[in-house]
Amino acid sequence: MTSIADNLQQVHTRIARACTAAGRNPASVRLLAVSKTFDAEAIRAAMAAGQREFGESYVQEAIAKQDALGAQASMLCWHYIGPIQSNKTREIAERFAWVHGVERLKIAQRLSAQRPDDLPPLNVCVQVNISGEASKSGCAPQEALALCAEVARLPHLRLRGLMAVPAPSKDEHEQRAAFHRLQELFIALRAQLPQADTLSAGMSDDLEAAIAEGATLVRVGTAIFGSRPRTLAGVP
Ligand SMILES: *Cc1c(COP(=O)(O)O)cnc(C)c1O
Repeated sequence: MTSIADNLQQVHTRIARACTAAGRNPASVRLLAVSKTFDAEAIRAAMAAGQREFGESYVQEAIAKQDALGAQASMLCWHYIGPIQSNKTREIAERFAWVHGVERLKIAQRLSAQRPDDLPPLNVCVQVNISGEASKSGCAPQEALALCAEVARLPHLRLRGLMAVPAPSKDEHEQRAAFHRLQELFIALRAQLPQADTLSAGMSDDLEAAIAEGATLVRVGTAIFGSRPRTLAGVP
């Protein structure tokens, strides 16, 4: 049994090695700990090891954990990384600092309208279906820059960049090819909207390939918290 603290240390080492290999500064990559399906105790253990940014995919589950953590929850930065249903936008706008899965203008407009006035703008990454899978969420790559421009105009949102979950592959060349297409899109985005500073890409199995292709934020669950129970349908 390895502890969450040990796992976090190992992930930091992987990030640092991948940055060195790519000639990048390790401080240029943020680690988002994906705590979906794990309880508040697991989050406390990661917090004790210095982790502050957490990713959740289910609104109700996330709110229950935030409430269980009480005052500690407000010391953390919460990212919503799951699919966004229209009837959940208010809770997302009220309870999170970041949203990674915006794929339609309608959802972005609701998030902006529902973001409480006393909170800073909600940080948004537009999700891109970079592998062109029919079943995957995300907007088409050729629509991404237009959507980003619209999001950037909404008053209570702050456009931060792009997010993608490429088709799973064990082959590092295939992984790199998908992340490379994403990086090209991100470079085009930055030419248009220089405030975009975040490329949210890479998970437990492919964070090295993502960092080699310019990821600035990796979303890591399994490598920190262990494997997730298979009983939850639809968990990626
Ligand atoms: C679950 C999830 C992750 C983390 O995946 P691991 O393979 O467990 O690291 C990252 N991003 C998204 C969008 C997820 O849903």
